[in-house]
Amino acid sequence: MGKQPASKLNLPNIRLLMNYDERRQQLADTLKQQTTGTVRLDKTTSNVFRNRPNAQSESLLDVSQFNHVLNVDPQNNLIETEGMTTYEALVDQSLSHGVMPAVVPQLKSITIGGAVSGIGIESSSFRYGLPHESIGEMDVLLGSGEVVTCTPDNEHRDLFYGLANSYGTLGYILRLTVLAIPVKPYIQLTHIRFADADALFDAVRTWTERDIDFIDGTVFQPGKHYLTIGRFVDDAPYTSDYTWMDIYYQSIPTRSEDYLTVRDYLWRWDTDWFWCSKNLYVHNRPMRRLLGRKRLNSITYQKVMRWNTRWGITRRLGYLSGQHRESVIQDIDVPIDRAAEFLDFFHREIGMRPVWICPVRQSVRDEQYPLFPMIAESMYVNFGFWGGVKTKMEMPTGHFNRLIEQKVTELGGIKSLYSDAYFDEAEFWSIYDGDTYAALKTKYDPDGRLKSLYQKCVLRQ
Ligand SMILES: Cc1cc2nc3c(=O)[nH]c(=O)nc-3n(C[C@H](O)[C@H](O)[C@H](O)COP(=O)(O)OP(=O)(O)OC[C@H]3O[C@@H](n4cnc5c(N)ncnc54)[C@H](O)[C@@H]3O)c2cc1C
Repeated sequence: MGKQPASKLNLPNIRLLMNYDERRQQLADTLKQQTTGTVRLDKTTSNVFRNRPNAQSESLLDVSQFNHVLNVDPQNNLIETEGMTTYEALVDQSLSHGVMPAVVPQLKSITIGGAVSGIGIESSSFRYGLPHESIGEMDVLLGSGEVVTCTPDNEHRDLFYGLANSYGTLGYILRLTVLAIPVKPYIQLTHIRFADADALFDAVRTWTERDIDFIDGTVFQPGKHYLTIGRFVDDAPYTSDYTWMDIYYQSIPTRSEDYLTVRDYLWRWDTDWFWCSKNLYVHNRPMRRLLGRKRLNSITYQKVMRWNTRWGITRRLGYLSGQHRESVIQDIDVPIDRAAEFLDFFHREIGMRPVWICPVRQSVRDEQYPLFPMIAESMYVNFGFWGGVKTKMEMPTGHFNRLIEQKVTELGGIKSLYSDAYFDEAEFWSIYDGDTYAALKTKYDPDGRLKSLYQKCVLRQ
């Protein structure tokens, strides 16, 4: 079937005046009335980096009204919020109550539902695991229009654990509760340099056992590795500002200590989309002055990159200069014992830099998250790299991404699915627990109103 325009499932406009229960009911009723065809979310922002050339006609479900923080309860360390709330809104509201979500992904526009059903990570993940691990309960809109509440121990516990890495293929999270942790006003940062990868990962092991609050790292090039340790503090001798003229990642090799407000720490990577703003010539000062503080953020870059992808600008320029470029935008996790091996492979075969690293340990729970299996209580290292590899020769489609997939599997690691994936179907399901997924799909989406994970993440439908 050819590609057809998507149709919108229209909802009346009085929703602004409605409370959560009323809006949930209305959305469910709307979906129930639409009994044929597949459905997908209608959202204005997305941090999924995958074109959808094979997308077919689908009904778009407008969930934009599910973006409210419902309650922040610092006494019980709990936040109750709607699924499409951005972390920016969540952070603003929770900080005003002296708490923050236990894990806050680095990009402001990531929504909490996206981080749970896709996979997020941040520098508190060595203690609290991935964002889906600090969730208490969720209301989930199924493809049939029914809404179920799932918790770690009720009759929908299979869905509770199955939602992580399901990418909206089992249902949409409309409301959820999240673990909140108390904050102090400032973060003291310590940047430590390591000359070799073994020393770096040994230090990760040591530091993650200490009384610290955050840890991540930046590999600028072989031999130039930095760990950044963050601690909450009540007072700061000064605070730096990386929201306009100064660039956070450039500060790392130039100073051993730094102080940021909590809010600026949480968004330290957003202003320049880690370092990716460089590709848009935003590192030069006149350009930054021209753009102003407000436009320097991941949402601006996201828009430009989508526009670039749509019009193929980089690809065309590459052809003109006689070069081929493969987009390599990935986050992968490997067990810490194999992390140096991965980095060595990465420098040799892929060669992109810098690389972001972040330790993560799956927190202890009785059950696994079957679609994103990690060994409980084991330390992994996340590697994030976002850019492309240029070659003179034309390589087979997905050549470099495929090398990475194979290496990650060989090292006992796992890859996030927010970007291009090239697994064949059997391999894919052997990694992301096809049997459990099939059982979940049969139970929660028997009519196939939502695409399957393979269709969405590999076939780009
Ligand atoms: C360049 C880049 C860098 C990244 N860096 C980080 C990072 O530093 N830290 C980090 O944590 N993550 C990072 N990510 C990954 C990001 O967290 C995930 O892609 C996440 O899923 C995006 O969330 P979103 O709200 O933008 O969701 P969307 O992009 O809108 O959706 C993602 C998927 O989740 C589904 N979905 C969205 N909302 C819901 C919901 N409420 N219920 C069920 N399904 C839903 C959608 O259908 C879609 O399949 C990065 C991604 C990219 C592309």
